[in-house]
Amino acid sequence: MSERQTRSRRTGGLVVLGGSGRGPGRPAGAVWLVGAGPGDPDLLTVKALKVLQTAEVVVHDGLVSDEILELAPAQARRISVAKRKSRHSYSQDEINRMLVAFALDGLTVVRLKGGDPFIFGRGGEELEACREAGVECRIVPGVTAALAAGANAGAPLTHRGSAQAVTFVTGHAAKGGEPDLDWESLAKPNQTVVIYMGLSMAAPIAARLLAAGREGSTPALIVENASRADEQRIVTTLAGLADAAAGLSGPALLIVGEAMALARAGGGEAIDTILQEARA
Ligand code: SAH
Repeated sequence: MSERQTRSRRTGGLVVLGGSGRGPGRPAGAVWLVGAGPGDPDLLTVKALKVLQTAEVVVHDGLVSDEILELAPAQARRISVAKRKSRHSYSQDEINRMLVAFALDGLTVVRLKGGDPFIFGRGGEELEACREAGVECRIVPGVTAALAAGANAGAPLTHRGSAQAVTFVTGHAAKGGEPDLDWESLAKPNQTVVIYMGLSMAAPIAARLLAAGREGSTPALIVENASRADEQRIVTTLAGLADAAAGLSGPALLIVGEAMALARAGGGEAIDTILQEARA
């Protein structure tokens, strides 16, 4: 049995490619883990666009917009692995096996992920799966949501005198529930804490920071759908964070820190700009 066949067997045979015309003699393809940025197609990197244009298979999650998916070749197979309530969601293991199987079938696979693949994107697990299977895996970084959120709000994540550090944390423990974070350290002043996946945990997270000594008056910002047409920004304080988060459905970031004093509330500028341009 050839090495290639052995490797295919290890993928568990999850994916059967039909009609691709690629015989078993075709050399192994590759997996590209590509950051699609926070939503606005203009925030895709030039490299991400170039790689996307070479895709034979695009495996994407729910945070990647249709406008970006349209940039892939028309004949590329598009596979959504978005988490949906109504139908089967792929487990991370199934996604890993799918990527490896396509690559071993000789295809150029673009795994398109929201923001940056290595910031709370589980890109590391996909990279490990590829390495284990002997599949070439390359990474294209993307603009992570925090950068777009700060930029659009006009609030720097680091700022001379009021934010000497910025920390990206997850608002959820790996198995769900409250995250196990170093609250004492995050409660120190003059630093920015950006919480990903924290919307539903806003109340316990704020309570932890307050209990650890961060001032209730510390400026805070919530950005929902950063860089998309329906972006919403709420300027609040740590004490008001939980109330401000209630009613939002995400994706959203919670950002706490003195530098958020510069943040501007609002949203929908993208639509305003389009309207202004259309009426000019
Ligand atoms: N890899 C992504 C993050 C994936 S984790 C990145 O680098 O941005 C998913 C979380 O990211 C969401 O729960 C939300 O907290 C955040 N997120 C992703 N896109 C966002 C957006 N456009 N606006 C606000 N938050 C976003």
